[in-house]
Amino acid sequence: MYKAPQKPRILTGDRPTGPLHLGHYVGTLANRVKLQDQYDCFFIIADLHTLTTQNSKEQTTTLNDRVRGLVLDYLSVGIDPAKSVIYQQSQVPEVTYLYLLFNMLVSVPRAQRIPTLKDVLKAAHIENPSVGLLSYPILQSADILMVKGNLVPVGKDQESHVEITREIASTFNKMYGQIFPEPKALIGDIGTLVGTDGNSKMSKSLNNCIYLSDDEATVTKKVMGMYTDPTRLRPTDPGHVEGNPVFIYHDAFNDNKAEVEDLKSRYLVGQVGDVEVKQKLALAINKFLTPIREKRKLYESKPELIDQIIQEGSAKAKAEAAKTLAEALQAMGIK
Ligand code: ATP
Ligand code: MG
Repeated sequence: MYKAPQKPRILTGDRPTGPLHLGHYVGTLANRVKLQDQYDCFFIIADLHTLTTQNSKEQTTTLNDRVRGLVLDYLSVGIDPAKSVIYQQSQVPEVTYLYLLFNMLVSVPRAQRIPTLKDVLKAAHIENPSVGLLSYPILQSADILMVKGNLVPVGKDQESHVEITREIASTFNKMYGQIFPEPKALIGDIGTLVGTDGNSKMSKSLNNCIYLSDDEATVTKKVMGMYTDPTRLRPTDPGHVEGNPVFIYHDAFNDNKAEVEDLKSRYLVGQVGDVEVKQKLALAINKFLTPIREKRKLYESKPELIDQIIQEGSAKAKAEAAKTLAEALQAMGIK
């Protein structure tokens, strides 16, 4: 019987640490939605990864609520459970077995060289990282390789995690036999979106986010308070457009390109004030978020559907995981 060739696979996801924001959207969500038809997609809610920085009892007992919130965020941007698998990491314990096997393939200095480690320690105010935090990218590698992912849409900050995944795949394949693909990262149109405060990364922990779930008034308030060109004191001063957060956002979210060009050219010569630039930006972002808000409302009224999506997706991911783990163990001659 004719068997259609399998589509290449995507694996990516997020830690359920809170609501998703515009940075997540441009860094990775936009690519996920766009590629749903071309790829077999697996979107992981990485709850076990959350434990690397948040494992107090208060945090672990509220994790499931955040898992559901993340699914709602996914559905609201257009991730379609009929096309893509959405699953919860902790429901696929096979991944921890693969993670253990992979831990033997990475030296301690190599793990310490991961650039995100330093950033996470700083952001989470951690002085003595756990072994679990050090091996965060190794667990991520197990997530990706467990479904034999080929492409990993992520923000720029996570590129190094895909790099170590490739190394692990290649090392395993050389030592035991050809089991794993060497996946590639796919960075979004904007690799790292700046925060509303001008900080180089929009991030929950920096409190500089516009969330996909923010209402209209909240978005307007956040935009009106945004950081712009610090060298410009009056609307009649010539301003900087390059690297200016309000124009980065205009480029990313305002679909009226003529308006953006007009604002930019007037800004450069001191013929427009920040207020007008920001008012137009608030309108543009609210317009961008309107369909997202509508979808969210629809799904918010169906909590049992969210549970069903997680259950069904996790069962599919588990079947893939079991198969891959069996192949890996067999290649090693263990089972
Ligand atoms: P936050 O820092 O807000 O807590 P996060 O970095 O913890 O967010 P993760 O779950 O680690 O979020 O990352 C989810 C995905 O979103 C990753 O692919 C990451 O690269 C991407 N991402 C997060 N913040 C941004 C941003 N400001 N710009 C672009 N991509 C981002
Ligand atoms: Mg992070």
